[in-house]
Amino acid sequence: MEITKIECHVVVVPNVSPEACSSAQDDIVVLVHTDEGITGIGEVDTNPWVARAMIQAPGTHCMGLGLQEMLVGQNPLTPEALWDRMYLGSAMTGRRGLGICAMGALDMALWDIRGKAMGKPCWQLLGGAKQPFLTPYASLLPTGRTLEEYQRNLVHKAIQAKNAGFKAAKMEVCLRGPYSHNAIQESNEAIIETVAACREAVGPEMTMMVDVAYAWWDAKEALGVLERLEEYNLFFLETPLNIDDLDGYAFLAERAPFRIAAGEWQNTRFEFIDLMDRGRIDVAQPDVGRVGGLTEARRVADLAAVRGRLIVPHCWKTGIGVAASAHLAAATAHCPYIEYLPPELSESDLRKELADDGLKMDNGRVALPERPGLGIELNYDALGRYRA
Ligand SMILES: [Mg+2]
Repeated sequence: MEITKIECHVVVVPNVSPEACSSAQDDIVVLVHTDEGITGIGEVDTNPWVARAMIQAPGTHCMGLGLQEMLVGQNPLTPEALWDRMYLGSAMTGRRGLGICAMGALDMALWDIRGKAMGKPCWQLLGGAKQPFLTPYASLLPTGRTLEEYQRNLVHKAIQAKNAGFKAAKMEVCLRGPYSHNAIQESNEAIIETVAACREAVGPEMTMMVDVAYAWWDAKEALGVLERLEEYNLFFLETPLNIDDLDGYAFLAERAPFRIAAGEWQNTRFEFIDLMDRGRIDVAQPDVGRVGGLTEARRVADLAAVRGRLIVPHCWKTGIGVAASAHLAAATAHCPYIEYLPPELSESDLRKELADDGLKMDNGRVALPERPGLGIELNYDALGRYRA
């Protein structure tokens, strides 16, 4: 089998809000075609225009090749070998950041081809079933122009998730720091009050996570707040500090009364090794596309296992990335949750329409995917309608 052509589609929702914290407003969808009629599908959560250029641009020397030119003509059935080829061939321009993101979308598509060619769901090729079913957590990102509106909307969404059958939910409490919602800059008291309101709304049984989106610059200030959140029984607290403050993460991870989670932005296993060994985080959150695809996500999960850390993949895009996360989780024993929002609870048109991930939640559980490859059904009509 040979790769014949790579298509890159940039899609955008009609009413883009530049203030939005959500990256689900745009996407790059890659289609990797083969001479045997099998097409692999991938995506990545990064700037889609730049990712497209990274894939399509030609190169002039062996350390700065284009990703597309390195793949066309190759056998798609060995994604790990092609990962090394792309990593080494683009090292001068890629290696981290967007270069790895673009590779991640392509690698996802290569695993899809491999699964389809073998007639097996990708998790069977990533190590086989390591858990009987998946447990999704609902990611709840509220809207609101004031603190009161924000809290009311978040509590409303938490109750909705509970009523939909979720056993776990993550509250986005983005009230401080560089990405705070609508530039609201609230006090630490407001964060504690919001977490308390969510716990009260969902009751003691529901597993609750909190994402504060890099709220603090200072680990000691963060620790003061985390200690006061102990009574709300959090499963993890996500990204308390600037992601480059690995020593700050280590300080918190040693002292916090619950798990510290991070990793949504990290590219490659090498950045996760730093995050786990120097940053001492408890829960690694690779985004399958951004970390470098399923090939690299598998490696990160294995590195976490030998360190006794958990994997809870980050995922905030369409059914394509959701499916990739689900296949990784199925083949990973130490992955207790996947980030998952059913299309009907999502506010993103792309999540709702672009791809059917084939997953169904029943009583808070998702059965392992059965269709070959990633099991995605791409909506080509939506792909055309949302094309930028
Ligand atoms: Mg986050």
